[in-house]
Amino acid sequence: MIRLDEVSKTYAGTAEPAVAALTLDVPRGEILVLVGPSGCGKSTTLRLINRMIEPTGGRILFDGRDVTRVNPDELRRHIGYVIQQIGLFPHRTIADNVATVPKMLGWDRSRIRARVDELLDTVGLDPSIYRNRYPKELSGGQAQRVGVARALGADPPVLLMDEPFGAIDPITRDRLQNEFLRLQADMQKTIVFVTHDIDEAIKMGDRIAILRDGSAIAQVDTPQRILALPIDDFVQDFIGSGAALKGLNFERVRDLTLGDFPHVRHDAGHAKAIQILDGSRQQWMVVLDAHERPLRWVNRTDIDRSDRRLTEVGQAVRVTVEPNATLHDTLEAMLNSSVGAAIVTDARGRYQGVVEIEVLTEAISRMRTEARAHYASLGLSTADAPGLAPYAPPALDGTS
Ligand code: ADP
Repeated sequence: MIRLDEVSKTYAGTAEPAVAALTLDVPRGEILVLVGPSGCGKSTTLRLINRMIEPTGGRILFDGRDVTRVNPDELRRHIGYVIQQIGLFPHRTIADNVATVPKMLGWDRSRIRARVDELLDTVGLDPSIYRNRYPKELSGGQAQRVGVARALGADPPVLLMDEPFGAIDPITRDRLQNEFLRLQADMQKTIVFVTHDIDEAIKMGDRIAILRDGSAIAQVDTPQRILALPIDDFVQDFIGSGAALKGLNFERVRDLTLGDFPHVRHDAGHAKAIQILDGSRQQWMVVLDAHERPLRWVNRTDIDRSDRRLTEVGQAVRVTVEPNATLHDTLEAMLNSSVGAAIVTDARGRYQGVVEIEVLTEAISRMRTEARAHYASLGLSTADAPGLAPYAPPALDGTS
C-alpha cells in the first residue's frame, strides 16, 4: 500500500540528512510502527509520506502509484493524520473539527452531519453530548478520540499517527490503545504509527521498524521476532531488559501442548491418589471436585494424612488460567501459586492441564529458533548470540 523507495530528506542548513535513503514497504491493512530514539527521523519520515515535507530524494508510492509529484492537498485527502495534543482547531466545535475533510471534499450538510455522528460514536463519544462542545471542554483522552475521528473523516485508506497517545496519563493511554486496536480490527486501515516508546510499539505494531539516526532501519519485523532475536546491540539496548518476558505476551496457553499432570477426583480415595502420584514424576497433584474443577494442590505428605479428606489437605488452588491467557499471564499465575505451576481450566472452570515453568522456557527457546530460521530463510546469518546481520531492504519487485 505504501512504498518508500530510497527516500531522503536533508533540511536546509543542516549537514546530516534527517532521513537517508529509506526503503520500506507497508502492506495494506498493517500497522507499521516506527520507533527509535528522539531525533532519529521518525516524524520527518511520517511527514514525508503525506508530503507535509518535500523529500530531497527518492520516491513515494501509494498503491503502486508514484505520488512524489502529485498535488499534496489531493494526496492528504486520502491520508488521515493524527498528532499529539495540538491537533484540534480550538475555535471550532467538535463536529466542525471532525468534519474538516468531508467539508473540503464538498459533501452536503446532511451527509456531513451523519458522518460526524457516526465517527463520534465509533470513537466512543456520544454525539448528542459532544457534537457542539469545543476542544477546551474535553479531557486529554476525549480530545485524542476526536483527533482520531477527524483523521477518519472521509474514510481514508491510510492513517499516519505521530505519538497519538503520547501526552496522556498511562491508564487512559492503555484504554485508548485498546480501543484503537479494536477499531482497527474492523477498519483494516494501513497505518504508520510513530512512537519513542518500545512497549507501545510492541503493543500496537503488526510490525515494528526500529530506527537509528537518519531513519536507518536497524531491524524491521514482527514484535515477536524482534523480541525473540534482537539483531544487534543497538536493538537489544533499545528494547531494554525483559525482552524474553515481553515475548511471552505473544504466545497463548492454547498453543501449548499440556503434559500429563497427576490429578484425582476428591472422592477417589487416598489409595488411588497415592497410586497416581507415585506413578508420576511429580511432587504434587491436583484434587478436582465432582465437576472436575480444581480444588487443591496436594503432595505425598498431605495425602498420607488418611484421617483428613483430600478436600481438606494441601493448598487451595487460588489462581487458574484459561486457554486464551498469554504466557505472560500464565507466568504471573505460576508466581502466585504455592507450587510454581499454573492450572489451566476451560471456560466452565473444568481442569484441562497444568503449565510448568519448563514449558515457558521451551516456548521462549522455540520463539528464538523460529526467528533464527526465519532470518536464515532470508539469507541473514544470526549467530547464537544476537547476530550482527545487517538489515536487508525489501526487494522492490514486490517479492519481499
Ligand atoms: P524524531 O521524530 O525521531 O524525534 P525528527 O524527524 O523530528 O525526529 O527529527 C530528525 C532530525 O531532523 C533531528 O536531528 C531534528 O533536529 C532535525 N529536524 C527536524 N525538523 C527540522 C527542521 N524543520 N529543520 C531542521 N532540522 C530539523
